[in-house]
Order: sequence, then structure tokens, then C-alpha cells
Amino acid sequence: MPELTGRVLLLGGTTEARALAGRVPVISSLAGRTSRPLLPAGEVRIGGFGGVEGLVRYLRTERIGAVVDATHPFAATMTAHAAAATSQTGVPLLVLRRPGWRSGPGDVWHRVPHLPAAAALVPGLGERVFLTTGRQSIAAFAALDGCWFLSRSVERPAPPLPRRLEVLLDRGPFTVDGERELLRRHRIEVLVTKDSGGGAAKLDAARELGLPVVMVDRPPLPADVATAATVDEAVAWLAQRG
Ligand code: NAP
Repeated sequence: MPELTGRVLLLGGTTEARALAGRVPVISSLAGRTSRPLLPAGEVRIGGFGGVEGLVRYLRTERIGAVVDATHPFAATMTAHAAAATSQTGVPLLVLRRPGWRSGPGDVWHRVPHLPAAAALVPGLGERVFLTTGRQSIAAFAALDGCWFLSRSVERPAPPLPRRLEVLLDRGPFTVDGERELLRRHRIEVLVTKDSGGGAAKLDAARELGLPVVMVDRPPLPADVATAATVDEAVAWLAQRG
């Protein structure tokens, strides 16, 4: 473990953040969205900072020497706030983002820029839809009365919801065998996912079954931020600042 000077604020909520917290001393920050979060090792704080201003105050009060933003690739607001607050305070920032997925032979992917575009495309691809975009994304599909949805999320989604919906409460990791069985059992015709990266069991299963996938692209990163693709790279970046 590298010797670090100054405190490191780690913006978390991902597998990578938990792994990093197990390797270097950090204050992990969680948004507090899930009622039973998987807690990382070490110090943890929970809840929003109160926008950019609140984060600037926190960085100063807690004498933070570096920030690692290891939030989910779709947590674009938190990432924008981290970029603004660190730029205002001169605190170094690293964004840790696992690589996105790439299609290969046999994949039938439709890349779309955002959730409304996914919702516009889905009815033309199939009637029975597996939604794995997270509970806060389900509202984008609420008006699609012609489709039946299976939605998987960690917490129960809140309205507005599609009329024909079955909710599956589950948290990964998932296996290809399990995903194939799920897709078959529910006679799924189209899979919708965000390009989160990481475990790709659902994509492997969809390829095996020849199912189309609607892949929502990641929001862009703020300009000029340092990035790391792996936990090892983030550990090395922090060690350079130790
Ligand atoms: P978001 O839209 O980017 O952030 C909204 C607000 O939530 C932020 O402005 C901030 O509030 C607070 N927040 C977000 N992440 C935080 C953190 N790590 N620590 C403290 N405050 C945080 O975020 P989101 O998409 O709702 O995601 C919330 C959390 O769930 C993140 O930690 C993310 O890593 C995790 N997650 C998100 C997804 C996804 O698909 N979006 C998937 C899996 C996990 P203030 O402005 O008050 O500071």
C-alpha cells in the first residue's frame, strides 16, 4: 500500500471504488441512494455535498489532498461537480472509469445517445423487453404501452412506470448461464442497457440467443480531466502524489 500524504476523497458507488478503498486509505463518499449499500473498507460518509459549493466547502474543511471520482459512468452530475470543485480549489482530480463495452462478432447492437432515444427504438425491435438501465431510468419507457418489460434493479423503482412491467430486485454479479436462463424464461426479445462496462454476462447471453441490444452511450466526461481505466492505475496515480 502506498504512503499517502493528505486525505483522499473517493467518490464511490461502484465495484472499482470499493476495490480502491480496500487498497489505499481514503474517505469513501456514497450518495445514499440504496437502503443497504455495500460498504467499502475504511472511513465512509453518506449523502450529497450540496452542489459544487458544498463540495468546495467539504474539500477545504476536511483538508482533502486529492479526489478520485470512481462514480458510475452515468453519474454525470457528480462528475461535473467534482471537476468544478477541484478546479476551484486546485485539488488534483482523477476520474476512474472502467472501459465501456465493445461489440464483437455475433452482436446485434443499436447504440443510442440517451434513454429517450432508446425508448423510441425499442418498440420496433421487439415486444418483450429486458430493462437493465437502473430504476431511475425506467420512467423513460413509461409510455410504451405496446411493450412488456422485465426490469432489474437493486431497489424498487418509483412511478411513472410502464403499464406492463415485472420488477426483479437483484444485484450482480450475474453469470452467463443465469442470464441466458432469465432471457429464455421471460421470452425476452430485446435487451436495453447503459454502456456501464464491467461484467458482461447479459451481453454474452444476448449474443448467444441472437437478441438485439439497445446500448445507451455514456455521457461525455468534463474536458481536461485525468482518467484511469483500472484500480491499479488509480493506485499508481495516488502513489505519485504520496
Ligand atoms: P448523479 O446524478 O451524478 O448525482 C446527483 C447528486 O447525487 C449529486 O449532485 C450529489 O449531490 C449526489 N451524489 C452522487 N454521487 C455521490 C457520491 N458518490 N457521494 C456523495 N454524493 C453523491 O448520480 P446518480 O446517477 O444518481 O448516482 C448516485 C450514486 O449511485 C453514485 O455514487 C453512483 O456511483 C452510483 N451508481 C449510479 C448508477 C447510474 O446508472 N447512474 C449506477 C450504479 C451506481 P450533491 O449535489 O448534493 O453533492
